[in-house]
Amino acid sequence: MVSRVIPVDPFDLVIFGGTGDLAQRKILPALFRRYCAGQWSADARIIAAARGELDVNAFREMVSVSLNRHVPKRAKDLKALNGFLANVDYVALDALSDSGWSELAGKLREDRIRAFYFSVGPRLFGPLAERINASGLANTETRIVVEKPFGHDLQSAQALNATLAAHFSESQIYRIDHYLGKETVQNLMAVRFGNMLFEPLWNSQYVDHIQITVAETVGIDGREEYYERAGAMRDMVQNHLMQLLCLIAMEPPAKFDPNAVRDEKLKVIRALDPVEPHHIVRGQFAAGPDGPGYREVVGNPRSTTESYVALRAHISNWRWAGTPFYLRTGKRLVARSSVINVLFKDAPHSIFGEEAGRHANALSIRLQPNEGITLKVTIKEPGQGGMRLVDVPLDMSFAEALGPENQDPPDAYERLVMDVIRGNQTLFMRGDEVEAAWAWTDPVIAGWQARGDVPKPYDSGSTGPGDAELLMKRDGRRWQGIKP
Ligand code: NAP
Repeated sequence: MVSRVIPVDPFDLVIFGGTGDLAQRKILPALFRRYCAGQWSADARIIAAARGELDVNAFREMVSVSLNRHVPKRAKDLKALNGFLANVDYVALDALSDSGWSELAGKLREDRIRAFYFSVGPRLFGPLAERINASGLANTETRIVVEKPFGHDLQSAQALNATLAAHFSESQIYRIDHYLGKETVQNLMAVRFGNMLFEPLWNSQYVDHIQITVAETVGIDGREEYYERAGAMRDMVQNHLMQLLCLIAMEPPAKFDPNAVRDEKLKVIRALDPVEPHHIVRGQFAAGPDGPGYREVVGNPRSTTESYVALRAHISNWRWAGTPFYLRTGKRLVARSSVINVLFKDAPHSIFGEEAGRHANALSIRLQPNEGITLKVTIKEPGQGGMRLVDVPLDMSFAEALGPENQDPPDAYERLVMDVIRGNQTLFMRGDEVEAAWAWTDPVIAGWQARGDVPKPYDSGSTGPGDAELLMKRDGRRWQGIKP
């Protein structure tokens, strides 16, 4: 099954922060892969902007090195590489002064889509929005793309929304949560709303509980300053895990349309109960054989920033009342694994008697690695006298099921950047969604600060702090394994 590539309309894409890590590691490689796939061609242009005084050839050389590192197979195709680089330009520009703006204006063409990607630190988001307008660069086909973090708390997110709204309409603002661009995350919606099988059971009558795990093996190297101010709650829960929670819990939207989907996600966030302090565990990784502990990494021996959070959330609505959602995420854990486990209730009555054992169905949706779905079903244990039951997986790896030509699906940034050009906001967060998510996380963080809470240490390479296991144990449940 080969997916069809639909070319996008001509565009000028300005990447502010084009020499930075995100642009070089993710955005430009994503654009290159889409170029190689034939999704855009010579009538589009990418203009990188940053303060560094580079000429265009030096910038193209920088991009070439990045592509060789991050898209090695395709970058070896010199025709494709040179064709791509010919469409890449560079302007030295300062977001905080007039320097370079008229040069940028001179490079933009009329009669085409104009997108501005803010791949710079968050303090520059507001000034960039102001200068784009003040320099007369915005046209009716203008979109702006804003990276995370979108605010530090509710107040700062509201202020940023207000600044952006002073210059652009909501339909022009694309707030990125790259999790939403992951193929399997979109598959969550396809699985739920494209099948008859699951939706009738997708409620508190049949679902015992849901677990959402985003485990990382990496630490915070290179992001110490930001992370020390943010912690796992702001860096991961407020955005990525909340988005996964929304997609798994929302009502079916009437259609797959940006506002219909985002309205339903917003309703989930607004239906979340405040988190009880005894339903949340914070952790901080300690030194281990693979490296120093969190406090050493950030150079603050008294740091109380969490690198791990596990919590129990409740959605007070008709569908989910009584079904807990357990969320956990952490750095330096035993494995890299993002997975959603939907654990169904036991059958109401066992006709085989207690000796057959009690079994419940479980649906695992693996977002990474080895994207796919496993449904645990109960069958008879073979060869035994009597009727003993055993669980077996019905396992579907997307890569295997969809064939070798789909082994390398577009990554999140490829999908999202092309959606910006297409003008499709479905996979981007709306301003009210972001604010509602902060309104839910802010009191949790304020509670920690008021109580002087200190995160529990956990060993690097482990599954997280022991208290996270207790959180489940108290409820008579246990986490599904992190190792994929
Ligand atoms: P970075 O490596 O520090 O790059 C920052 C870029 O901004 C550089 O190109 C820098 O170039 C430019 N810049 C700084 N001040 C400027 C100014 N006054 N005017 C114009 N350009 C300026 O940062 P990054 O890691 O790429 O992150 C960029 C944004 O993406 C941040 O908001 C970050 O939170 C977000 N993000 C990053 C990642 C990631 O993996 N890196 C992931 C998710 C989100 P000059 O210094 O030459 O101007």
